[in-house]
Order: sequence, then structure tokens, then C-alpha cells
Amino acid sequence: MTPNSISDRESSTKEHEQTSHSIIDDARVDCCIVGGGPAGTVLSLLLARFGINVMLLEAHRDFERDFRGDTLQPSAMEIMAQMGLAEGLLQLPHTKLRSITLRGIGGKVIFSPSFSGLKTDFPYVTVMPQVRFLDFIVAEAKQYPSFQLVLGANVQELIEEDGVIRGVRYRGHGGWHEVRAQVTIGADGRHSRLRELAGLEAIPTSAPMDVLWFR
Ligand SMILES: Cc1cc2nc3c(=O)[nH]c(=O)nc-3n(C[C@H](O)[C@H](O)[C@H](O)COP(=O)(O)OP(=O)(O)OC[C@H]3O[C@@H](n4cnc5c(N)ncnc54)[C@H](O)[C@@H]3O)c2cc1C
Repeated sequence: MTPNSISDRESSTKEHEQTSHSIIDDARVDCCIVGGGPAGTVLSLLLARFGINVMLLEAHRDFERDFRGDTLQPSAMEIMAQMGLAEGLLQLPHTKLRSITLRGIGGKVIFSPSFSGLKTDFPYVTVMPQVRFLDFIVAEAKQYPSFQLVLGANVQELIEEDGVIRGVRYRGHGGWHEVRAQVTIGADGRHSRLRELAGLEAIPTSAPMDVLWFR
């Protein structure tokens, strides 16, 4: 998240106080969220439900990402249930993975955990392409007039005035656009451009598991 007040750090983004680009249009919202992954889309929906004017900016023109995971863990399904979305989500085509069998050389079973013993309403891994999940969340958010989505919006600059982040500038349809917001949130993934622009440092944590992913 990009803090509104950045006066306590060196102003490494001074160059972003003004822009040399000609701005085609500017929007004003309560909250601008950069990045339409799981984090940005779900947060947009939550805020839109509260009537907060939120604009979600996504650099790509759709939610189809090459080389992305397809699984929703039980904990993610529980969050969906808390949001009242689990039932609708499970109406979409998916597979329920109730156990996994890992075999070694010669077909010998090395590891065969089952999810059925988990104390949850969702004792399985829901296998569903991430694009289907994101499209579903965005379709929900679009039901609220307080939600706006801009696809093809590549955020490249912060608007910084008097040491305060006032929004972002993005390259999109026809040129440069400005979004002014009371709160600006970077949900633009692990190589976050917003984090870099804001001069924030990532706090490394160890992942609970490592996954090898093959094409
Ligand atoms: C190969 C692989 C497999 C995975 N498998 C699974 C899985 O099976 N299950 C699971 O739960 N997780 C899986 N993950 C992890 C999961 O994809 C991430 O945890 C999740 O996508 C992080 O969500 P996010 O919203 O924080 O960021 P992201 O999903 O990375 O979304 C960030 C978004 O920001 C946009 N963006 C970036 N820069 C800008 C910019 N300047 N302006 C505008 N938009 C911008 C990007 O286009 C992107 O859409 C996998 C990850 C990988 C790499």
C-alpha cells in the first residue's frame, strides 16, 4: 500500500511531482488500485460494496495471464464464503482435488495426502484457471456503480504533491491519463512498480512451500 504521507522519507520520487506528458483526462476517485490480480480485484470489490468510489487500473487488456496457477486453496474458498461468493464461484466449471499421489521411480507411492480430513467446508483444492476466478470477481464488482475498471492502463508515475501521494499517471488508450485519489494502493504484484516509485522496501518472508512449475 502506498502511504498518503511520505514526508518522513527522502523524496526519491520528486521527479514525479510534475509531468512533461500531456494528460488527456483526469479522474477523481476515493481509492485508486493499481493491478488487477487476485489482490487488486478482491479489494476493489470489497471497497465498492461499501460505496467507496474505486478505480482499478490493470496494465493488460484482459485477465488472461500466461503461466499462472489454477488452484484455489481451502483457505481461499473460506474467504470467498465469508464474502458470500463461494456458491457462485463453484457454479463455474472446476475440478475438486481431494487427494494427491506423488509417485517415485517405478511408480512407488511416496506421498499421498488427502484433504478430506481438513476442518473446513471446502476439504479440497478447487482447480480453476485464474482468469475464470478474476473474471468472476470483476463481474461481481461491476454490479456496483462505485466500481470502475480500466484495462490497458499501464501505471508509470505517482502524482506527488507536497510530499503526499495524490494518485497516479498511466499510459493507456490514446496517451497519458491521471487518476487523483485519496488513497492509492499498489497491488501490482511481486515486482511492483508502485513500490519502487514510492521508495518502499519489500519485507522478504519465507514461503510456506516451494512449488516447481513446468510447462
Ligand atoms: C507459475 C505460477 C503458478 C502459481 N500457481 C498458483 C496456484 O495454483 N494457486 C495460487 O493460489 N497461487 C498461485 N500462484 C501465485 C499467484 O499467482 C500469486 O500469489 C497471485 O497472483 C498474487 O496476486 P497479486 O494480486 O498480488 O499479484 P498479481 O497476480 O501478480 O497481479 C498483479 C497485477 O498487476 C498488474 N500490473 C503490474 N504492473 C502494473 C502497472 N504498472 N500498471 C497497471 N497494472 C500493473 C499485472 O498485469 C497483474 O495483473 C502461482 C504463481 C506462479 C508464478
